[in-house]
Amino acid sequence: MSKNIDPRQEAVRETVKDFAEKEIYPVSRELDQMPEPRKFPRELYRKIGQAGFIGLAMPEKYGGQGKSHVEYITLIEELCYHDAGIGLLCAVAELATYPILNFGSDEQKEKYVPDCASGKIIPAFVLTEPEAGSDAANQKTIAVENGNEYVINGEKIFIMHGDVADLAVLFCKIDGKPKINTMLVDTNQPGWKARTLKNKMGMRAATTGGIHLTDVKTPTGNLLGEFGKGFRYAMQTLDSARVGVAAQGVGIAQRALDESVAYSKKRQAFGAPIAKLQAIQWMIADMATRLEAARCLTYKAAMKQDNGERFSLEAAMAKLYAAETANFCVDRAMQIHGGYGFIGEFSIIEKLYRDQRVLEIYEGTSEVQRLVIAGNVIGR
Ligand SMILES: Cc1cc2nc3c(=O)[nH]c(=O)nc-3n(C[C@H](O)[C@H](O)[C@H](O)COP(=O)(O)OP(=O)(O)OC[C@H]3O[C@@H](n4cnc5c(N)ncnc54)[C@H](O)[C@@H]3O)c2cc1C
Repeated sequence: MSKNIDPRQEAVRETVKDFAEKEIYPVSRELDQMPEPRKFPRELYRKIGQAGFIGLAMPEKYGGQGKSHVEYITLIEELCYHDAGIGLLCAVAELATYPILNFGSDEQKEKYVPDCASGKIIPAFVLTEPEAGSDAANQKTIAVENGNEYVINGEKIFIMHGDVADLAVLFCKIDGKPKINTMLVDTNQPGWKARTLKNKMGMRAATTGGIHLTDVKTPTGNLLGEFGKGFRYAMQTLDSARVGVAAQGVGIAQRALDESVAYSKKRQAFGAPIAKLQAIQWMIADMATRLEAARCLTYKAAMKQDNGERFSLEAAMAKLYAAETANFCVDRAMQIHGGYGFIGEFSIIEKLYRDQRVLEIYEGTSEVQRLVIAGNVIGR
């Protein structure tokens, strides 16, 4: 598969390349190496919004650019090629806005989506709890209806931008009923206590939060979509986001490959470039082959999404394979770079190694993707 299956992708790649030169490379290392407590890069986030990246695939009516998912996936791949943590800033905004756009009322869309798309407000997708990760339905956060508002108590963990979010797309149960609901919650209230989680291994430009909710209030009108459909909304949102995670993996794997090719031509051992050694050539051949397969799976899923077809299976396959490919490619890149790969002062490989690892964990672990794939292939 060519890198650009659609001519419109070329334009996206060029735009991101320009943005990366001006806005990513000057801050990339500083954001990765920032001492604790880490600060969310608000200025850069705003620039990502203003560049039209967050809203790329959102309708123009709601402040987006109305582009295809294939173009959006190209954007994420390309951003993550330059800096995966910065690419994640954009991907998280899209993840959190997706439920509003797809399941919200016209009024909710008009109120929130344009500000999410422009980067004016920071939304977060607030599903995971200490005892509800892979088992996401095991929600302990409870909202109790009190007149025309819900009063919410509970705890959430590992929430991207949860430490700084203005708006939470929150999943919880209501009044002890088993079904999960989705609601929009303004985080600017005393019962919302969020902290930035420390010592994150990679993807450090984007921060991750833990949240305690004590009598947090939201109007009953902030329920998103239909009562009791929250779990379905979460899963549909994750289907879409998984294609984005796959694109993160493709971007990281491509960077690992490009760095390895360049380095192997330059590095001399035993009087010749290491690229002449068959051991190195085989590693590069395996990286290039897996990358190609990961890219094919990723763009196939995005094309199905654009065509309005079901794409849960393709999203799970793409996410699983691209995450494992990123892991494989970065590991081989480190081997090719030897000591210069392991020490971050000399190359980007050490950062890529840290950044890629979470792709097999968030938005459904690799084991969960295998469950989804097997469920589709074998039947439940
Ligand atoms: C950096 C980061 C950012 C994140 N961002 C968000 C976010 O923005 N919003 C949000 O809601 N969540 C977010 N998450 C949470 C993430 O989605 C969960 O961490 C993930 O779903 C796994 O849940 P867990 O960590 O509780 O692991 P567990 O579910 O406890 O899993 C532990 C291990 O058991 C395995 N396992 C569990 N169940 C099964 C099973 N049935 N079959 C086989 N194996 C199984 C898992 O695959 C894993 O290997 C984020 C996590 C991280 C690390």
